[in-house]
Amino acid sequence: MTKRMTEQELVDSFDEALELGHIFITYQPKINHSTGRMIGAEALMRWEHPEYGMQYPSDFIPVLEKNDLIYRADLGVFESVCRFLRKCLDSGTDTVPISVNMSRYDIYRKDYVNAIEALRKKYDIPVKYLHVEVTETSAIGGMELVSGVLKQLHDYGYIVEMDDFGSGYSSLNVLKDLAVDIIKLDMRFLSGDIGGRGGTIISAIVQMAKWLGTPVIAEGVETMEQADYMKSIGCKYIQGYLYSQPVRESEFTEKLGQLEHEPVTPAMDLIRTMDAEKFWDPSSLETLIFNNFVGGAVIFNYQNGKTEILRVNKKYVREIGMNMLEQEILDSDPWAGMDSENREIYEKTLWKAIESKDEESCETWRNVCSKICGEDRICIRSFIRMIGRTEEQYLFYAMVQNVTVEKKCFNDLYNSERRFRFSSEQANVYAWEVDLTTKQMRPCFRCMRDLNVPPLVHNYPEPLIETGLFPPDYADMYRQRMKELEEGTIDSLDVVIPLTVGRIPFHVRYTLERDENGKPLKAYGSATLVVDSDQNGSKEENT
Ligand code: C2E
Ligand code: CA
Ligand code: CA
Repeated sequence: MTKRMTEQELVDSFDEALELGHIFITYQPKINHSTGRMIGAEALMRWEHPEYGMQYPSDFIPVLEKNDLIYRADLGVFESVCRFLRKCLDSGTDTVPISVNMSRYDIYRKDYVNAIEALRKKYDIPVKYLHVEVTETSAIGGMELVSGVLKQLHDYGYIVEMDDFGSGYSSLNVLKDLAVDIIKLDMRFLSGDIGGRGGTIISAIVQMAKWLGTPVIAEGVETMEQADYMKSIGCKYIQGYLYSQPVRESEFTEKLGQLEHEPVTPAMDLIRTMDAEKFWDPSSLETLIFNNFVGGAVIFNYQNGKTEILRVNKKYVREIGMNMLEQEILDSDPWAGMDSENREIYEKTLWKAIESKDEESCETWRNVCSKICGEDRICIRSFIRMIGRTEEQYLFYAMVQNVTVEKKCFNDLYNSERRFRFSSEQANVYAWEVDLTTKQMRPCFRCMRDLNVPPLVHNYPEPLIETGLFPPDYADMYRQRMKELEEGTIDSLDVVIPLTVGRIPFHVRYTLERDENGKPLKAYGSATLVVDSDQNGSKEENT
Protein backbone atom coordinates (compact mmCIF):
# COMPACT_ATOMS: atom_id res chain seq x y z
CA MET A 1 0.00 0.00 0.00
CA THR A 2 1.17 3.49 -0.77
CA LYS A 3 0.59 6.60 1.25
CA ARG A 4 2.02 9.99 0.69
CA MET A 5 4.24 10.85 3.64
CA THR A 6 4.15 14.26 5.30
CA GLU A 7 7.21 16.47 5.38
CA GLN A 8 7.74 15.69 9.05
CA GLU A 9 7.45 11.94 8.51
CA LEU A 10 10.01 12.12 5.69
CA VAL A 11 12.49 14.15 7.73
CA ASP A 12 12.07 11.92 10.77
CA SER A 13 12.62 8.66 8.94
CA PHE A 14 15.42 9.91 6.66
CA ASP A 15 18.41 8.62 8.68
CA GLU A 16 16.91 5.19 9.07
CA ALA A 17 15.91 5.04 5.39
CA LEU A 18 19.42 5.83 4.27
CA GLU A 19 20.94 3.34 6.67
CA LEU A 20 18.57 0.47 5.96
CA GLY A 21 18.49 0.89 2.22
CA HIS A 22 14.88 2.11 1.98
CA ILE A 23 16.41 4.80 -0.15
CA PHE A 24 17.87 3.06 -3.17
CA ILE A 25 18.37 3.65 -6.84
CA THR A 26 16.80 2.59 -10.09
CA TYR A 27 18.52 2.77 -13.46
CA GLN A 28 17.10 4.06 -16.69
CA PRO A 29 19.01 3.17 -19.88
CA LYS A 30 20.01 5.75 -22.49
CA ILE A 31 19.82 4.29 -25.99
CA ASN A 32 21.14 5.13 -29.45
CA HIS A 33 17.88 4.99 -31.40
CA SER A 34 19.81 4.37 -34.65
CA THR A 35 21.63 1.28 -33.45
CA GLY A 36 19.58 0.09 -30.46
CA ARG A 37 22.75 0.03 -28.37
CA MET A 38 22.99 1.31 -24.81
CA ILE A 39 25.16 4.41 -24.34
CA GLY A 40 24.64 4.96 -20.61
CA ALA A 41 22.10 5.03 -17.81
CA GLU A 42 20.80 7.46 -15.24
CA ALA A 43 20.60 6.65 -11.54
CA LEU A 44 17.26 7.78 -10.11
CA MET A 45 16.52 7.88 -6.44
CA ARG A 46 13.63 5.88 -4.91
CA TRP A 47 12.34 5.66 -1.37
CA GLU A 48 10.34 2.64 -0.32
CA HIS A 49 8.97 3.10 3.15
CA PRO A 50 8.24 -0.23 4.89
CA GLU A 51 4.88 1.03 6.04
CA TYR A 52 3.82 3.75 3.57
CA GLY A 53 5.15 2.16 0.40
CA MET A 54 6.91 3.72 -2.59
CA GLN A 55 7.60 7.44 -2.46
CA TYR A 56 8.54 9.39 -5.58
CA PRO A 57 11.22 12.04 -6.06
CA SER A 58 8.73 14.77 -6.94
CA ASP A 59 7.36 14.43 -3.38
CA PHE A 60 10.44 13.79 -1.28
CA ILE A 61 13.28 15.57 -3.12
CA PRO A 62 11.92 19.09 -2.50
CA VAL A 63 11.54 18.14 1.18
CA LEU A 64 15.12 16.86 1.37
CA GLU A 65 16.34 20.02 -0.35
CA LYS A 66 14.40 22.25 1.97
CA ASN A 67 15.72 20.45 5.04
CA ASP A 68 19.32 20.36 3.94
CA LEU A 69 19.28 16.56 3.63
CA ILE A 70 19.70 16.27 -0.15
CA TYR A 71 23.47 16.49 0.09
CA ARG A 72 23.65 13.30 2.14
CA ALA A 73 21.05 11.60 -0.02
CA ASP A 74 22.99 12.43 -3.20
CA LEU A 75 26.26 11.21 -1.77
CA GLY A 76 24.39 8.04 -0.74
CA VAL A 77 23.25 7.63 -4.36
CA PHE A 78 26.77 8.25 -5.64
CA GLU A 79 28.18 5.64 -3.27
CA SER A 80 25.55 3.07 -4.31
CA VAL A 81 26.45 3.66 -7.95
CA CYS A 82 30.15 3.19 -7.16
CA ARG A 83 29.34 -0.01 -5.30
CA PHE A 84 27.34 -1.25 -8.30
CA LEU A 85 30.11 -0.36 -10.76
CA ARG A 86 32.68 -2.11 -8.56
CA LYS A 87 30.51 -5.23 -8.66
CA CYS A 88 30.36 -5.02 -12.45
CA LEU A 89 34.11 -4.54 -12.75
CA ASP A 90 34.81 -7.40 -10.37
CA SER A 91 32.42 -9.81 -12.03
CA GLY A 92 33.52 -8.85 -15.54
CA THR A 93 30.10 -7.41 -16.44
CA ASP A 94 30.58 -4.93 -19.26
CA THR A 95 28.92 -1.73 -18.09
CA VAL A 96 28.03 1.70 -19.46
CA PRO A 97 28.67 5.09 -17.81
CA ILE A 98 26.13 5.87 -15.09
CA SER A 99 25.04 9.43 -14.47
CA VAL A 100 24.04 10.76 -11.08
CA ASN A 101 21.92 13.82 -10.40
CA MET A 102 23.44 16.77 -8.64
CA SER A 103 20.97 19.00 -6.86
CA ARG A 104 21.54 22.70 -7.15
CA TYR A 105 21.81 22.68 -3.37
CA ASP A 106 24.88 20.47 -3.72
CA ILE A 107 26.47 23.28 -5.68
CA TYR A 108 26.24 25.54 -2.67
CA ARG A 109 28.19 22.96 -0.66
CA LYS A 110 31.72 23.66 -1.68
CA ASP A 111 32.96 20.14 -0.97
CA TYR A 112 30.49 18.13 -3.08
CA VAL A 113 32.96 17.48 -5.89
CA ASN A 114 35.74 16.52 -3.50
CA ALA A 115 33.33 14.25 -1.63
CA ILE A 116 32.27 12.28 -4.72
CA GLU A 117 35.88 12.13 -5.85
CA ALA A 118 36.82 10.56 -2.51
CA LEU A 119 34.08 7.95 -2.99
CA ARG A 120 35.23 7.22 -6.53
CA LYS A 121 38.75 6.66 -5.24
CA LYS A 122 37.50 4.51 -2.39
CA TYR A 123 35.83 2.12 -4.85
CA ASP A 124 38.55 2.61 -7.44
CA ILE A 125 36.15 3.32 -10.32
CA PRO A 126 37.62 4.69 -13.59
CA VAL A 127 36.18 8.18 -13.98
CA LYS A 128 34.85 7.40 -17.46
CA TYR A 129 32.05 5.36 -15.88
CA LEU A 130 30.66 8.31 -13.94
CA HIS A 131 28.74 11.24 -15.35
CA VAL A 132 27.21 14.09 -13.36
CA GLU A 133 23.88 15.65 -14.34
CA VAL A 134 23.54 19.31 -13.47
CA THR A 135 20.24 21.07 -14.07
CA GLU A 136 19.99 24.18 -16.12
CA THR A 137 18.27 25.95 -13.23
CA SER A 138 21.47 25.58 -11.17
CA ALA A 139 22.57 28.68 -12.99
CA ILE A 140 20.01 30.59 -10.94
CA GLY A 141 22.48 30.48 -8.08
CA GLY A 142 24.87 32.46 -10.26
CA MET A 143 26.90 31.53 -13.28
CA GLU A 144 30.22 31.86 -11.52
CA LEU A 145 29.30 29.30 -8.90
CA VAL A 146 28.19 26.70 -11.46
CA SER A 147 31.14 27.39 -13.74
CA GLY A 148 33.47 26.80 -10.81
CA VAL A 149 31.84 23.44 -10.01
CA LEU A 150 31.92 22.38 -13.67
CA LYS A 151 35.59 23.22 -13.85
CA GLN A 152 36.28 21.17 -10.72
CA LEU A 153 34.36 18.20 -12.19
CA HIS A 154 36.20 18.52 -15.49
CA ASP A 155 39.56 18.74 -13.76
CA TYR A 156 38.87 15.35 -12.23
CA GLY A 157 37.72 14.03 -15.59
CA TYR A 158 33.96 13.73 -15.07
CA ILE A 159 31.63 14.11 -18.03
CA VAL A 160 28.97 16.70 -17.24
CA GLU A 161 25.46 16.47 -18.65
CA MET A 162 23.15 19.45 -18.66
CA ASP A 163 19.84 18.18 -17.33
CA ASP A 164 16.37 19.50 -18.18
CA PHE A 165 17.61 21.63 -21.00
CA GLY A 166 14.80 23.70 -22.42
CA SER A 167 13.06 24.29 -19.10
CA GLY A 168 14.72 27.61 -18.36
CA TYR A 169 14.26 30.98 -19.89
CA SER A 170 17.77 31.63 -21.05
CA SER A 171 18.53 28.18 -22.42
CA LEU A 172 20.60 29.20 -25.38
CA ASN A 173 22.69 31.64 -23.38
CA VAL A 174 23.32 29.09 -20.67
CA LEU A 175 24.44 26.66 -23.34
CA LYS A 176 26.92 29.14 -24.70
CA ASP A 177 28.35 30.08 -21.35
CA LEU A 178 28.54 26.71 -19.58
CA ALA A 179 31.04 24.10 -20.59
CA VAL A 180 28.84 21.00 -20.58
CA ASP A 181 29.71 17.82 -22.46
CA ILE A 182 26.24 16.46 -23.15
CA ILE A 183 22.85 18.14 -23.34
CA LYS A 184 19.70 16.44 -22.12
CA LEU A 185 16.67 17.87 -23.82
CA ASP A 186 13.45 17.08 -22.02
CA MET A 187 10.61 16.40 -24.45
CA ARG A 188 8.06 17.11 -21.77
CA PHE A 189 8.97 20.79 -21.67
CA LEU A 190 8.34 21.07 -25.35
CA SER A 191 5.70 18.43 -25.87
CA GLY A 192 2.51 18.61 -27.84
CA ASP A 193 3.16 19.93 -31.27
CA ILE A 194 6.24 18.32 -32.72
CA GLY A 195 5.37 19.77 -36.10
CA GLY A 196 4.75 23.25 -34.74
CA ARG A 197 6.59 25.70 -32.55
CA GLY A 198 7.79 23.01 -30.14
CA GLY A 199 9.42 21.20 -33.04
CA THR A 200 11.03 24.35 -34.33
CA ILE A 201 12.56 25.09 -30.94
CA ILE A 202 13.78 21.53 -30.53
CA SER A 203 15.37 21.45 -33.95
CA ALA A 204 17.01 24.84 -33.39
CA ILE A 205 18.48 23.59 -30.13
CA VAL A 206 19.73 20.39 -31.73
CA GLN A 207 21.23 22.39 -34.59
CA MET A 208 22.98 24.75 -32.22
CA ALA A 209 24.24 21.87 -30.08
CA LYS A 210 25.65 20.32 -33.23
CA TRP A 211 27.57 23.46 -33.95
CA LEU A 212 28.92 23.46 -30.43
CA GLY A 213 29.95 19.85 -31.00
CA THR A 214 27.82 18.73 -28.06
CA PRO A 215 25.82 15.47 -28.19
CA VAL A 216 22.14 15.71 -27.29
CA ILE A 217 20.08 13.10 -25.43
CA ALA A 218 16.32 13.44 -25.69
CA GLU A 219 14.67 12.41 -22.42
CA GLY A 220 11.09 11.67 -21.57
CA VAL A 221 10.60 10.01 -24.95
CA GLU A 222 7.49 7.87 -24.77
CA THR A 223 6.52 7.17 -28.37
CA MET A 224 8.20 5.88 -31.49
CA GLU A 225 6.94 8.97 -33.32
CA GLN A 226 8.86 11.22 -30.92
CA ALA A 227 12.01 9.11 -31.18
CA ASP A 228 11.88 9.05 -34.99
CA TYR A 229 11.29 12.78 -35.11
CA MET A 230 14.30 13.42 -32.86
CA LYS A 231 16.42 11.17 -35.01
CA SER A 232 15.30 12.98 -38.15
CA ILE A 233 16.55 16.28 -36.80
CA GLY A 234 19.89 14.83 -35.80
CA CYS A 235 19.35 13.67 -32.22
CA LYS A 236 19.59 9.91 -32.01
CA TYR A 237 20.13 9.44 -28.28
CA ILE A 238 16.98 8.63 -26.38
CA GLN A 239 16.02 8.08 -22.75
CA GLY A 240 12.43 7.37 -21.84
CA TYR A 241 9.60 4.92 -21.28
CA LEU A 242 9.72 3.99 -24.99
CA TYR A 243 12.85 1.97 -24.29
CA SER A 244 12.62 1.38 -20.57
CA GLN A 245 11.21 2.61 -17.28
CA PRO A 246 13.77 3.11 -14.53
CA VAL A 247 14.45 -0.44 -13.28
CA ARG A 248 16.01 -1.98 -10.21
CA GLU A 249 19.62 -3.05 -10.13
CA SER A 250 19.07 -6.73 -10.87
CA GLU A 251 16.91 -5.99 -13.90
CA PHE A 252 19.37 -3.37 -15.11
CA THR A 253 22.22 -5.86 -14.85
CA GLU A 254 20.20 -8.18 -17.08
CA LYS A 255 19.73 -5.40 -19.63
CA LEU A 256 23.46 -4.71 -19.58
CA GLY A 257 23.98 -8.28 -20.66
CA GLN A 258 21.26 -8.23 -23.33
CA LEU A 259 22.02 -4.99 -25.12
CA GLU A 260 25.20 -4.09 -26.93
CA HIS A 261 26.97 -0.95 -25.75
CA GLU A 262 28.58 1.97 -27.50
CA PRO A 263 30.07 5.29 -26.41
CA VAL A 264 28.43 8.65 -26.92
CA THR A 265 29.97 10.54 -29.81
CA PRO A 266 29.64 14.24 -30.48
CA ALA A 267 26.95 15.24 -32.90
CA MET A 268 29.52 16.97 -35.06
CA ASP A 269 33.25 16.71 -34.95
CA LEU A 270 34.37 20.13 -36.14
CA ILE A 271 37.88 20.72 -37.25
CA ARG A 272 40.05 22.08 -34.50
CA THR A 273 40.87 25.36 -36.10
CA MET A 274 37.28 26.38 -36.36
CA ASP A 275 35.51 27.80 -33.36
CA ALA A 276 31.88 27.06 -34.12
CA GLU A 277 30.55 29.20 -31.34
CA LYS A 278 32.31 32.28 -32.62
CA PHE A 279 31.32 31.34 -36.10
CA TRP A 280 27.67 31.95 -35.35
CA ASP A 281 28.31 35.14 -33.43
CA PRO A 282 27.60 38.02 -35.83
CA SER A 283 30.13 40.26 -34.09
CA SER A 284 32.99 37.77 -33.93
CA LEU A 285 36.21 37.95 -35.85
CA GLU A 286 35.35 34.66 -37.56
CA THR A 287 32.16 36.16 -38.94
CA LEU A 288 34.02 39.24 -40.00
CA ILE A 289 36.52 37.09 -41.86
CA PHE A 290 33.79 34.94 -43.35
CA ASN A 291 31.99 38.01 -44.64
CA ASN A 292 34.85 40.20 -45.70
CA PHE A 293 38.14 38.53 -46.26
CA VAL A 294 37.31 35.45 -48.22
CA GLY A 295 35.58 35.23 -51.57
CA GLY A 296 32.17 33.72 -52.04
CA ALA A 297 31.79 31.04 -49.37
CA VAL A 298 29.06 28.64 -48.34
CA ILE A 299 28.68 26.12 -45.54
CA PHE A 300 26.41 23.19 -46.12
CA ASN A 301 25.37 19.86 -44.73
CA TYR A 302 25.50 16.66 -46.75
CA GLN A 303 23.60 13.64 -45.52
CA ASN A 304 22.34 10.59 -47.38
CA GLY A 305 22.62 12.39 -50.69
CA LYS A 306 20.73 15.45 -49.46
CA THR A 307 22.29 18.87 -49.05
CA GLU A 308 21.18 21.78 -46.95
CA ILE A 309 22.78 25.22 -47.09
CA LEU A 310 23.46 26.48 -43.58
CA ARG A 311 25.27 29.68 -44.19
CA VAL A 312 26.48 31.88 -47.04
CA ASN A 313 28.46 35.10 -46.94
CA LYS A 314 27.71 38.31 -48.76
CA LYS A 315 30.23 37.60 -51.49
CA TYR A 316 28.59 34.27 -52.17
CA VAL A 317 25.32 36.06 -52.78
CA ARG A 318 27.08 38.45 -55.13
CA GLU A 319 28.97 35.64 -56.87
CA ILE A 320 25.78 33.75 -57.66
CA GLY A 321 24.43 37.03 -58.98
CA MET A 322 20.91 37.20 -60.35
CA ASN A 323 20.01 39.64 -57.55
CA MET A 324 19.29 36.68 -55.31
CA LEU A 325 18.50 37.40 -51.70
CA GLU A 326 20.44 35.56 -49.01
CA GLN A 327 17.23 34.01 -47.72
CA GLU A 328 16.29 32.81 -51.21
CA ILE A 329 19.61 30.98 -51.37
CA LEU A 330 19.26 29.50 -47.90
CA ASP A 331 15.75 28.27 -48.69
CA SER A 332 16.66 26.73 -52.02
CA ASP A 333 17.48 23.09 -52.58
CA PRO A 334 21.03 23.10 -53.95
CA TRP A 335 20.36 20.05 -56.09
CA ALA A 336 17.22 21.45 -57.65
CA GLY A 337 18.97 23.37 -60.42
CA MET A 338 21.50 20.67 -61.26
CA ASP A 339 21.01 17.98 -63.86
CA SER A 340 22.15 14.47 -63.01
CA GLU A 341 25.44 14.82 -64.85
CA ASN A 342 26.50 17.94 -62.97
CA ARG A 343 25.21 16.58 -59.71
CA GLU A 344 27.33 13.49 -60.15
CA ILE A 345 30.41 15.62 -60.72
CA TYR A 346 29.66 17.61 -57.59
CA GLU A 347 28.97 14.61 -55.38
CA LYS A 348 32.10 12.88 -56.60
CA THR A 349 34.06 15.94 -55.54
CA LEU A 350 32.40 15.85 -52.10
CA TRP A 351 33.48 12.26 -51.63
CA LYS A 352 36.96 13.11 -52.82
CA ALA A 353 37.11 15.88 -50.20
CA ILE A 354 35.89 13.46 -47.53
CA GLU A 355 38.61 11.01 -48.41
CA SER A 356 41.47 13.42 -48.90
CA LYS A 357 40.51 15.71 -46.01
CA ASP A 358 41.88 18.36 -48.32
CA GLU A 359 40.55 20.93 -50.72
CA GLU A 360 39.00 19.55 -53.91
CA SER A 361 37.55 21.49 -56.78
CA CYS A 362 35.06 21.10 -59.60
CA GLU A 363 33.07 23.13 -62.09
CA THR A 364 29.36 22.53 -62.41
CA TRP A 365 26.48 24.11 -64.25
CA ARG A 366 23.18 24.80 -62.58
CA ASN A 367 19.97 26.65 -63.23
CA VAL A 368 19.25 29.36 -60.75
CA CYS A 369 15.96 31.05 -60.35
CA SER A 370 15.52 34.38 -58.64
CA LYS A 371 12.46 36.49 -58.00
CA ILE A 372 14.04 39.43 -59.77
CA CYS A 373 15.92 37.93 -62.70
CA GLY A 374 13.95 34.81 -63.47
CA GLU A 375 15.91 31.75 -64.51
CA ASP A 376 19.42 31.49 -65.86
CA ARG A 377 22.12 28.88 -66.26
CA ILE A 378 25.41 29.52 -64.47
CA CYS A 379 28.69 27.71 -64.04
CA ILE A 380 30.24 27.63 -60.56
CA ARG A 381 33.80 26.66 -59.79
CA SER A 382 33.89 25.30 -56.21
CA PHE A 383 36.81 24.64 -53.90
CA ILE A 384 35.41 22.28 -51.31
CA ARG A 385 36.72 21.21 -47.93
CA MET A 386 35.12 19.00 -45.27
CA ILE A 387 35.03 20.75 -41.91
CA GLY A 388 33.04 18.33 -39.80
CA ARG A 389 31.48 14.90 -39.84
CA THR A 390 29.37 12.40 -37.97
CA GLU A 391 28.68 8.84 -38.99
CA GLU A 392 26.49 9.73 -41.94
CA GLN A 393 26.51 13.51 -41.96
CA TYR A 394 29.18 15.76 -43.40
CA LEU A 395 29.74 19.46 -43.10
CA PHE A 396 31.44 21.28 -45.97
CA TYR A 397 32.93 24.66 -46.54
CA ALA A 398 33.17 25.76 -50.16
CA MET A 399 34.65 28.79 -51.81
CA VAL A 400 32.91 29.58 -55.08
CA GLN A 401 33.60 31.51 -58.26
CA ASN A 402 31.04 32.22 -60.89
CA VAL A 403 32.85 31.30 -64.10
CA THR A 404 29.87 31.45 -66.43
CA VAL A 405 31.25 34.21 -68.65
CA GLU A 406 34.64 32.57 -68.91
CA LYS A 407 33.02 29.25 -69.75
CA LYS A 408 30.65 30.71 -72.31
CA CYS A 409 33.52 32.40 -74.14
CA PHE A 410 35.44 29.19 -74.17
CA ASN A 411 32.45 27.20 -75.33
CA ASP A 412 31.63 29.66 -78.09
CA LEU A 413 35.18 29.56 -79.27
CA TYR A 414 35.30 25.82 -79.02
CA ASN A 415 32.10 25.45 -80.97
CA SER A 416 33.03 27.92 -83.68
CA GLU A 417 36.40 26.32 -84.05
CA ARG A 418 34.84 22.91 -84.30
CA ARG A 419 32.39 24.14 -86.91
CA PHE A 420 35.26 25.71 -88.73
CA ARG A 421 37.33 22.55 -88.72
CA PHE A 422 34.35 20.62 -89.89
CA SER A 423 33.77 22.83 -92.86
CA SER A 424 37.47 23.08 -93.61
CA GLU A 425 37.57 19.37 -94.23
CA GLN A 426 35.05 19.87 -97.00
CA ALA A 427 36.17 23.17 -98.45
CA ASN A 428 39.84 22.81 -99.21
CA VAL A 429 40.76 24.82 -96.17
CA TYR A 430 43.89 24.20 -94.20
CA ALA A 431 43.60 25.20 -90.53
CA TRP A 432 45.92 25.40 -87.56
CA GLU A 433 46.34 27.19 -84.33
CA VAL A 434 49.38 28.87 -82.85
CA ASP A 435 49.86 29.23 -79.13
CA LEU A 436 51.48 32.65 -79.00
CA THR A 437 52.95 32.21 -75.54
CA THR A 438 54.70 28.92 -76.30
CA LYS A 439 55.08 29.32 -80.08
CA GLN A 440 53.60 25.89 -80.57
CA MET A 441 51.54 25.21 -83.64
CA ARG A 442 48.95 22.47 -84.10
CA PRO A 443 47.82 21.75 -87.64
CA CYS A 444 44.62 20.18 -88.91
CA PHE A 445 44.56 16.72 -90.39
CA ARG A 446 44.69 18.07 -93.93
CA CYS A 447 47.90 20.05 -93.21
CA MET A 448 49.50 16.89 -91.93
CA ARG A 449 48.33 14.77 -94.84
CA ASP A 450 48.88 17.16 -97.77
CA LEU A 451 51.68 19.39 -96.53
CA ASN A 452 53.60 16.97 -94.31
CA VAL A 453 53.30 19.19 -91.24
CA PRO A 454 53.95 17.25 -88.00
CA PRO A 455 51.14 17.18 -85.37
CA LEU A 456 52.99 19.61 -83.14
CA VAL A 457 55.43 22.25 -84.34
CA HIS A 458 57.69 23.97 -81.83
CA ASN A 459 59.17 27.42 -82.36
CA TYR A 460 56.70 28.17 -85.11
CA PRO A 461 57.22 29.16 -87.93
CA GLU A 462 60.97 28.44 -88.08
CA PRO A 463 60.85 24.67 -88.80
CA LEU A 464 58.35 25.27 -91.61
CA ILE A 465 60.57 27.95 -93.10
CA GLU A 466 63.41 25.44 -93.01
CA THR A 467 61.40 22.76 -94.79
CA GLY A 468 60.55 25.28 -97.50
CA LEU A 469 56.81 25.34 -96.83
CA PHE A 470 57.32 29.07 -96.56
CA PRO A 471 59.61 30.17 -99.39
CA PRO A 472 62.78 32.04 -98.18
CA ASP A 473 61.81 35.36 -99.84
CA TYR A 474 58.55 35.44 -97.83
CA ALA A 475 60.06 34.26 -94.55
CA ASP A 476 60.89 37.66 -93.03
CA MET A 477 57.51 39.12 -93.93
CA TYR A 478 55.81 36.15 -92.30
CA ARG A 479 57.99 36.35 -89.16
CA GLN A 480 57.15 40.03 -88.87
CA ARG A 481 53.39 39.37 -89.10
CA MET A 482 53.60 36.59 -86.48
CA LYS A 483 55.44 39.00 -84.20
CA GLU A 484 52.68 41.58 -84.60
CA LEU A 485 50.11 38.95 -83.61
CA GLU A 486 52.27 37.93 -80.65
CA GLU A 487 52.49 41.53 -79.50
CA GLY A 488 48.84 42.12 -80.17
CA THR A 489 49.41 45.10 -82.40
CA ILE A 490 47.09 43.52 -84.99
CA ASP A 491 43.94 41.48 -84.43
CA SER A 492 43.78 39.69 -87.74
CA LEU A 493 45.77 39.03 -90.82
CA ASP A 494 44.81 38.46 -94.39
CA VAL A 495 47.66 37.85 -96.88
CA VAL A 496 48.40 35.85 -100.00
CA ILE A 497 51.56 33.81 -99.75
CA PRO A 498 53.00 31.29 -102.22
CA LEU A 499 53.46 28.10 -100.26
CA THR A 500 55.58 24.99 -100.71
CA VAL A 501 58.43 24.64 -103.13
CA GLY A 502 55.82 24.70 -105.87
CA ARG A 503 54.96 28.29 -104.79
CA ILE A 504 51.22 27.65 -104.88
CA PRO A 505 49.40 30.82 -103.89
CA PHE A 506 47.36 30.56 -100.70
CA HIS A 507 45.11 33.00 -98.99
CA VAL A 508 46.36 32.99 -95.38
CA ARG A 509 44.13 34.40 -92.67
CA TYR A 510 44.62 34.76 -88.91
CA THR A 511 42.28 35.59 -86.07
CA LEU A 512 43.71 36.56 -82.72
CA GLU A 513 42.36 35.41 -79.34
CA ARG A 514 43.20 37.45 -76.25
CA ASP A 515 42.77 36.66 -72.52
CA GLU A 516 40.59 38.78 -70.18
CA ASN A 517 43.46 41.29 -69.81
CA GLY A 518 43.85 41.69 -73.52
CA LYS A 519 47.05 39.68 -73.71
CA PRO A 520 47.30 37.64 -76.96
CA LEU A 521 46.81 33.93 -76.33
CA LYS A 522 46.27 32.12 -79.61
CA ALA A 523 46.16 32.80 -83.30
CA TYR A 524 43.86 30.68 -85.45
CA GLY A 525 45.17 30.35 -88.93
CA SER A 526 43.67 29.15 -92.18
CA ALA A 527 44.88 28.86 -95.75
CA THR A 528 42.76 28.47 -98.85
CA LEU A 529 43.93 27.93 -102.33
CA VAL A 530 43.71 31.06 -104.42
CA VAL A 531 41.58 30.11 -107.37
CA ASP A 532 41.66 31.90 -110.69
CA SER A 533 38.10 33.02 -111.08
CA ASP A 534 38.61 34.25 -114.68
CA GLN A 535 40.86 31.36 -115.71
CA ASN A 536 43.48 33.96 -116.68
CA GLY A 537 45.95 33.23 -113.98
CA SER A 538 45.39 36.59 -112.26
CA LYS A 539 46.50 36.53 -108.64
CA GLU A 540 44.87 38.13 -105.67
CA GLU A 541 46.82 41.04 -104.40
CA ASN A 542 48.93 40.82 -101.30
CA THR A 543 47.17 42.96 -98.68
P1 C2E B 1 15.18 14.00 -13.94
O1 C2E B 1 16.59 14.08 -13.52
O2 C2E B 1 14.77 14.84 -15.08
O3 C2E B 1 14.87 12.49 -14.20
C1 C2E B 1 14.04 12.05 -15.20
C2 C2E B 1 12.67 11.79 -14.68
O4 C2E B 1 11.83 11.49 -15.76
C3 C2E B 1 12.61 10.60 -13.76
O5 C2E B 1 11.60 10.84 -12.83
C4 C2E B 1 12.17 9.50 -14.71
O6 C2E B 1 11.54 8.42 -14.05
C5 C2E B 1 11.20 10.27 -15.55
N1 C2E B 1 11.00 9.66 -16.85
C6 C2E B 1 11.88 8.94 -17.58
N2 C2E B 1 11.36 8.58 -18.77
C7 C2E B 1 10.11 9.11 -18.81
C8 C2E B 1 9.06 9.10 -19.79
O7 C2E B 1 9.19 8.53 -20.88
N3 C2E B 1 7.92 9.75 -19.49
C9 C2E B 1 7.75 10.40 -18.28
N4 C2E B 1 6.61 11.03 -18.06
N5 C2E B 1 8.73 10.43 -17.34
C10 C2E B 1 9.89 9.79 -17.60
P2 C2E B 1 11.80 10.56 -11.30
O8 C2E B 1 12.60 9.32 -11.14
O9 C2E B 1 10.47 10.65 -10.71
O10 C2E B 1 12.70 11.77 -10.87
C11 C2E B 1 12.20 13.06 -10.92
C12 C2E B 1 13.28 14.05 -10.63
O11 C2E B 1 13.79 13.92 -9.32
C13 C2E B 1 14.50 13.88 -11.52
O12 C2E B 1 14.25 14.44 -12.74
C14 C2E B 1 15.52 14.58 -10.71
O13 C2E B 1 15.44 15.97 -10.91
C15 C2E B 1 15.13 14.26 -9.32
N6 C2E B 1 15.97 13.15 -8.86
C16 C2E B 1 15.81 11.82 -9.05
N7 C2E B 1 16.81 11.13 -8.48
C17 C2E B 1 17.62 12.06 -7.90
C18 C2E B 1 18.84 11.99 -7.14
O14 C2E B 1 19.42 10.93 -6.89
N8 C2E B 1 19.35 13.16 -6.70
C19 C2E B 1 18.76 14.37 -6.96
N9 C2E B 1 19.33 15.48 -6.48
N10 C2E B 1 17.64 14.47 -7.68
C20 C2E B 1 17.08 13.32 -8.13
CA1 CA C 1 18.53 13.85 -14.45
CA1 CA D 1 15.86 15.59 -16.77
